Amino acid sequence: MNSKKQGTKAVWGGQSELFYQGATQVPIVNSVTFGYDNVDDWFDVAIGKKEGHIYSRNTNPTVAVFEEKVRVLENAEAATSFSTGMAGISNTLSTFLSQGDRVVSIKDTYGGTSIIFLEFLPKHGIEVTLCDTANHEEIEAEVKKGCKMLYLETPTNPTLKILNLKRLIKSAHEVGALVVVDNTFATPINQQPLELAADIVLHSATKYLGGHSDAMGGVACGNKDLIQQIFHYREINGASLHANTAYMLLRGIQTLELRVLRQNENAMKLAEHLEKHNKIEQVFYPGLKSHSGHKIASEQMTGFGGVLAFSIKGDFENVKVFLNSLELAHLAASLGSVSTLIGPPKVTSHVEATVKERKQLGIPENLIRCAVGIENIEDIIADFDKALLKI
Ligand SMILES: *Cc1c(COP(=O)(O)O)cnc(C)c1O
Repeated sequence: MNSKKQGTKAVWGGQSELFYQGATQVPIVNSVTFGYDNVDDWFDVAIGKKEGHIYSRNTNPTVAVFEEKVRVLENAEAATSFSTGMAGISNTLSTFLSQGDRVVSIKDTYGGTSIIFLEFLPKHGIEVTLCDTANHEEIEAEVKKGCKMLYLETPTNPTLKILNLKRLIKSAHEVGALVVVDNTFATPINQQPLELAADIVLHSATKYLGGHSDAMGGVACGNKDLIQQIFHYREINGASLHANTAYMLLRGIQTLELRVLRQNENAMKLAEHLEKHNKIEQVFYPGLKSHSGHKIASEQMTGFGGVLAFSIKGDFENVKVFLNSLELAHLAASLGSVSTLIGPPKVTSHVEATVKERKQLGIPENLIRCAVGIENIEDIIADFDKALLKI
């Protein structure tokens, strides 16, 4: 399966053999526990000598197919899953960081991740250094001082800043640090951090992998040894993915390539259109030549993704008029769904930041983030134009 292309892997990964009684589709195994006909077999599975399942907090046949599919898409040796993306992130950080360790990351990580860095890790005596996101020199200098882990995310929320993964991973490996990359925004269709030498790739499967805003999950990919350690932490701490949800995610992920290619195209067209619009101040999309990360993104990504951001001329009142006038977008948090999701960071991801803090992060007060869906982009553009006319 490794030699196949991404669209084929999304369909066939983990599903190339028939299931129970010849089923071509994955059975949802809603069994908490798994029985054995004799104690010897049970023992062999329990000590890992033989493959099998014992208890669904640890492993489950439906969940295993989901893990296998993401593993194949990320070209990883191993993968393990979680009940949410945040469970994947917190479990991964907890697996590798303990008292006295130091982690280097960026200021623009996902909001929940940022709270772990600022609020929870310091409580456990873990030192956290958050660098200015696009300042590669600063990140390299902090890494050089020594750290256990470099934690990265690219593109970032909400202004789609781009980090040069190859360059930063190299600097981290020089000091023996582990590199973790949250690949949620890019998806394995647009970016494969393991190919760029990252150690662990994380996803909120709630977003593009599932793709329909109806199921939550997380997944970590990497080499067997690292994933075994994360798996062990998760099986005991219990943030396990449920078989029903794993099935929903599996159903969604089969169309991952179709959706993401369409979303790449839609976002590019919308970004180009908005950049020319006289009511728009600035558009942030790594596919645009005007974007500060365009060059690096062109080198390390095969598509620029479905998320863009733009600021509307004038004050926040104009943002409200525009958003309230849209017909074909949900005013809602999250991203990666088949339908367009839109909202101002001031109200969503950065609602708790002060005006000054948002300014420091380069987030204008009149910024709007848009996660484009798979609709026909002509309809979305017409809807946006109509709403912009109301200003
Ligand atoms: C949504 C998101 C998460 C958290 O995932 P949940 O499934 O909501 O827990 C982490 N990282 C990024 C980049 C996200 O967009």
